[in-house]
Amino acid sequence: MTDAQALVKTLDFQLDIQSDNESLLRDATLESRSVYNETIRLAKQGVDWNVIPDRVADDADLVKNTTQRVVSKALGAMENYYEYDDFGQPSHTKDGAYPLRANYEEGYNLSLTDDGDVAFRISSKPYKHVKGVLEGDDAHLDILKTALTSDEWKIGTAKALFHDDTAELHINVTNTEKTVRDKQDSRTVVGVDVNENNVALAALSEDGVEDTLVIDFPEVKFERHRYFTMRKRVQNAGKDSIHDTLEGREERFVRDRLHKVSRHIVEWSQRFEEPCIVFEDLKEMRDSIDYGTRMNRRLHHLPFRALQFYTSYKASFEGIPTAWINPEYTSQRCPMCGHTERANRNKKRFKCRSCSHQDHSDRGASVNIAVKGVKKLNWNVPALNSLPQVRKVRRQASGAVDAPTVTHDTATGHLVDGVVGVSD
Ligand SMILES: [Zn+2]
Repeated sequence: MTDAQALVKTLDFQLDIQSDNESLLRDATLESRSVYNETIRLAKQGVDWNVIPDRVADDADLVKNTTQRVVSKALGAMENYYEYDDFGQPSHTKDGAYPLRANYEEGYNLSLTDDGDVAFRISSKPYKHVKGVLEGDDAHLDILKTALTSDEWKIGTAKALFHDDTAELHINVTNTEKTVRDKQDSRTVVGVDVNENNVALAALSEDGVEDTLVIDFPEVKFERHRYFTMRKRVQNAGKDSIHDTLEGREERFVRDRLHKVSRHIVEWSQRFEEPCIVFEDLKEMRDSIDYGTRMNRRLHHLPFRALQFYTSYKASFEGIPTAWINPEYTSQRCPMCGHTERANRNKKRFKCRSCSHQDHSDRGASVNIAVKGVKKLNWNVPALNSLPQVRKVRRQASGAVDAPTVTHDTATGHLVDGVVGVSD
């Protein structure tokens, strides 16, 4: 057994920067780049790595500990290069912005405002501060506020950067009470396929697919559409305050649903031996190639990352690790024979043109995600000779939300019978 890992999260925020301070941050990220390049230059010259930090810091127009962090990042890149390539010279140097790395309470500070926002202050350069408030996902803000008001989370280093021209701050926090099992010690991989109306789960062990489940939540799409229409109506009538109220209500509704679904995913995963929950890394995908209309629809219709984040957050509190895989072809590959082809699905039905396997398409995707997870953990992928029947669960939109309707399975709430290839 390897050691359990500290529960560490990276919380991503957009920076709502005061007045004209944005250029200060921009200048600092450019200065950060020149610190990085200068470090590489000195290292290439053969200057002793122990003296590089001080030499670079003398000339850098950055806060000292920030310079140190960027220098160590550059030296780390040099070091890694030498680990797997002995030929030629490393060339990591580039132009443009480089993330500004900072220690908490040295290079940056956070505080709660009277309005319940989190204010930041980043020391872009000595005695020059960039100030404002953080904006972002509630799940991330909640953890950060907890960290600011209790000892449960410890705030660590952060990096400030520009992403698509938007200033962002990524903050590392560590939970002081919990640990997460090393994912290498897992015995089951749970693939999670998040969609507009449902989430499909497949639990894969060395014996094959142990079980699968599709959790339907059509009410999320329905309610979002309903709120959208209502908001448009009041907006057209010039009632902006009502518009904002509706927006808040919609957000709370969606968040509440996603929390319940994520709890369900974690509870279901806990039924299997030493689970590791695997998600598609949709963040990488957005910048990547076109994955087709299904993927685009998935990206725009539901706060996917919020659901993934809630799930991984809840899972880590149960000591369950999570892993992320590249989403490429997860919905186009046949889980039985591996044949991959575009457009081999019709709505919720998947039909393989090679082995004629038919499946609920989202379930098929969840199996593929689990298979990729297994590969990532370096297991042998078990032969899949048959897949369990798809079971569907529908969670109710209102009232006694978790009340079971059909209790086939008391461990996971209510189940409604479904069959392979069930239509939507
Ligand atoms: Zn096939």
